Amino acid sequence: MRAVAPTGLDDLASADPSVAPLVALYQVALAAVQDAAWQAALPSLDPAQVAAAREGLAVGQPLLHGQTFVVDSARLDQLLSRLLDGVERSGQLDGWRWRAALTGSESSINPLSLLEASLALASQRLEALAQEAGLDAALLSTLGQLAAGPLLAAWRQATAPLLNEVPWHGGYCPHCGAWPSLAEVRGLDREHWLRCGRCSAAWKFSTQTCVFCGNTDYETLTYLAPEAAREARRAVTCHDCLGYLKTVTTIGALSLADLARQDLQTLELDAAALDRGYGRPAHSAFPLQVTVLAEKVDKRRSWFGWKR
Ligand SMILES: [Zn+2]
Ligand SMILES: [Zn+2]
Repeated sequence: MRAVAPTGLDDLASADPSVAPLVALYQVALAAVQDAAWQAALPSLDPAQVAAAREGLAVGQPLLHGQTFVVDSARLDQLLSRLLDGVERSGQLDGWRWRAALTGSESSINPLSLLEASLALASQRLEALAQEAGLDAALLSTLGQLAAGPLLAAWRQATAPLLNEVPWHGGYCPHCGAWPSLAEVRGLDREHWLRCGRCSAAWKFSTQTCVFCGNTDYETLTYLAPEAAREARRAVTCHDCLGYLKTVTTIGALSLADLARQDLQTLELDAAALDRGYGRPAHSAFPLQVTVLAEKVDKRRSWFGWKR
């Protein structure tokens, strides 16, 4: 696996110790995204599937919907283990308890089920998994999303050409169905791009429309911004659905690491929006169905590994 180039996340962690544990987790996930071996788990894109995907896109169906991933359980175990090392290093949690629940043949949560629920953004399933194992649901959800990162990034790369052929008008990610994590106002032309924090997809969207509910009444679409940085970063708010989306000025497209950094650097916008009663939508953008299966392994390995 290649080492990841410096991202500025380290500087952020030293400047603000409160985000250091999350930065440690992001670093592990960003390194895993570089590992091309995850591509082997992707669904095949034969001509019939490409045609079906095109038809789906045309009616607002994200490319991830209905897909099946065949995952190397040992690779997933290793990634979860490295993420748990990150949690443990933060010193804020009982790492041993988490490790017992998530790794090894005695674990109470099947890592493949965690991955499947995370890919599908199935918050109720994730909550149920956390409850059964007696774990914190928010942290389990974060770990699940980070563990899904390499597959989502590989899926976005593999399906990127399809988006050149079919226009996409949704407020949610055409590749993985998530709501955007932020919007970019890009370059001298000030083009408005939405960005997915899960798979790093970028797609153009009108500035005059609420991403979450489609509201186009400019009188009810306003923004919150720090006085000194009004042009550089703001939270665009919608009075209709009470949603908000952070918007940052950029020179070009942000990398996945930059998206994570920008998100952590603009927490004051989240605080301001939440303070005033705005929030991220509680409902998912699209009812995703995703299947995760274990890759068939030889007898000796399957004896120790997870079976479904
Ligand atoms: Zn996405
Ligand atoms: Zn709205």
